[in-house]
Amino acid sequence: MTDELRVGALSAARGQKSSGVQALKLQGQTTELPIFLINGASDGPTLVVTGGIHGAEYASIEAALRLGRTLAPDHLRGRAIIVPVVDMPAFKARSIYICPIDGINPNRVFPGNPNGTAAEQLADWLYRNVMTQGNYYVDLHGGDLNEALVPFTLFQKFGNEKVDQASLEMAKVFGIRYLVSSEVKGSTTSAAALAGIPGILAESGGQGVWREEHIAAHTNGLNRLMRHLGMLDGPKPEPLPTQVMDQFVWLRSEHDGYYYPKVDVAATVRKGQDLGHVADFRGNVLQPITAPLDGTVLFLVSSLAMNKGDPLLAIGA
Ligand SMILES: [Zn+2]
Repeated sequence: MTDELRVGALSAARGQKSSGVQALKLQGQTTELPIFLINGASDGPTLVVTGGIHGAEYASIEAALRLGRTLAPDHLRGRAIIVPVVDMPAFKARSIYICPIDGINPNRVFPGNPNGTAAEQLADWLYRNVMTQGNYYVDLHGGDLNEALVPFTLFQKFGNEKVDQASLEMAKVFGIRYLVSSEVKGSTTSAAALAGIPGILAESGGQGVWREEHIAAHTNGLNRLMRHLGMLDGPKPEPLPTQVMDQFVWLRSEHDGYYYPKVDVAATVRKGQDLGHVADFRGNVLQPITAPLDGTVLFLVSSLAMNKGDPLLAIGA
């Protein structure tokens, strides 16, 4: 390992910090990635933090930005690479779920493909240049423009016991109560696990707002994790109560139409409970929604507009 920390055209010498904007071409269109490099004065692990893989999840973006702006190299043991807005085309377009250039959700195509479409090229660049430099990876999310959610942390269940255990430990340390195991292929954290890097995906925020309490769930979690890893001074974080959920069931719409949920986010639901319906554009019920299991509603789409295949809500159990 050299003393210099380098990502793309940006670099930071030992004990230095730098920030800049990396130009990238995605399907021929130029986009810019804001990047913070903090190269600690003393040795320690490398932490990679990303926000804005989904460009309208504002609490995650603001939290990553604040960390990038405030983390000082003289107090850091190790290194941090922070990218507050990964999918800048989505941020600019206020796009839900997808990169607007190709209509693809970047969080399903990692580790990407340099010769693929925009989302795949973006994933590939981030994976090769940023993610694989880390010893630990935190991907911040926050409920999209049309989603209400209770904060929860996904930890990767990849099949490599050592990486899986380290991911679960990171999730526990982060401090959000609900911990959900994830086996989603193509996600950021699954690609990190592929490279042997433990990672978590933390969700806090939603509906296009970025309240302090939502941002704090992310910034407190990052601070706790960095103290736990010995990257920052301060006491080891106090354990907080957590609840591990092995099931994370997404219900999806079978139709285009109007969506009428009957429960609130964070509600406890029972198997068979009426959760609302999807109606056609004249208001006739097309799809009654019933709970397939007992659990907690971790996220709930809050828009009247519903598209075939889109998520309606998710239940953790
Ligand atoms: Zn997201």
